[in-house]
Amino acid sequence: MPPTLAIIKQTEELLSHDFGPWHPFKNRERFEKYMALIEQHGITKLPWVKLITPTKVATEEDILAVHDQSLIDLIKRLSKTGGMLDGDTPVPPGTYERTLIQAGASMEAVESIMRGEYVRAIQCVAFGGHHATRRHVGRSFGFCYFNHEGVAMRYLQRIGLAKRFFVLDCDAHHGNGIQDIFYDDPTVLYMSLHQDPLTLYPGTGFVHEVGSGEGEGYNVNVPLPPGTTNQSYLRALEEVFVPLFREYKPDMLVYLLGADTYFADPLTMLKLTLSCYSEAPKLVVDCANEVCGGRVFTILAGGYHVDAAARVFCIGTARLAEVEPPDLSDELGAPTEEDPRVTARVEKVLSELKQVLSKYWSCFA
Ligand SMILES: [Zn+2]
Repeated sequence: MPPTLAIIKQTEELLSHDFGPWHPFKNRERFEKYMALIEQHGITKLPWVKLITPTKVATEEDILAVHDQSLIDLIKRLSKTGGMLDGDTPVPPGTYERTLIQAGASMEAVESIMRGEYVRAIQCVAFGGHHATRRHVGRSFGFCYFNHEGVAMRYLQRIGLAKRFFVLDCDAHHGNGIQDIFYDDPTVLYMSLHQDPLTLYPGTGFVHEVGSGEGEGYNVNVPLPPGTTNQSYLRALEEVFVPLFREYKPDMLVYLLGADTYFADPLTMLKLTLSCYSEAPKLVVDCANEVCGGRVFTILAGGYHVDAAARVFCIGTARLAEVEPPDLSDELGAPTEEDPRVTARVEKVLSELKQVLSKYWSCFA
């Protein structure tokens, strides 16, 4: 039987988090569509798949492990009456309490993985985390409040259950928050594949951003040009993620599975189709089985074409459960071939990146 996979559901409180009718993050809708799809395709009935309602709630002290007190105070204050953290990120009343529930759910999941209660978990988030930097300094937080991924990793380190993490961020946007928090820390290797920051928010995530101090070499960015299709995306995973992950040997993989890399996503310009979301998580699971006992904590990240996002997440869930994904169809207009100029551009990015990384990693030497 494949390893146990826990699907961490949203609580009613989290489901009630509403960014507003104009906002692209459709929390309740995408969660409900995703759950309906995995039920319909029998994934929730597999004997090794557990549906979990989280109970742990983070404390202010847990959040302080990755954020400045000023950010906590700001979100707490805005959350009392409702307000805006910035132009993109509304703070509806009750947000602060919900951030603690979401961070607690991530802490509970990673702890249960390390204690062997289940091998993998999928966290169905109500809002993002990877754009949340240590402090709020002008730049938009991109639908995030606290970096729950970072809170969860720091928690495991604090209670002594894990030392080293590899974060593979496959959201279309660069996770500037995770990069910021762990930039000088070699115990968290952050690797992100994202749309070229010259063409997309948040404008960070270039090849030369490799980390600093003791963390130099432990921050890896793969900026992909608009128009990148499955072909170059999978190549980047195979040529960079696989060897690096094998060499780093973390205790756990933290995997941000974004659906905003899908070709029909309204916010981005990457051009992946559903077959990529079958191939990529398979590669991830195979590597985790080989390197870290199969332990993967997956976060269902961005995705603004709600129907497509539910399909992407359903296929990914099947792979994490180690069953063949259902045969779901792409939206009309799916790209079949990559523009040769895009292929050449990715080729150049990969060779530049390997050159930069060869200073730190023998797999690229
Ligand atoms: Zn995103």
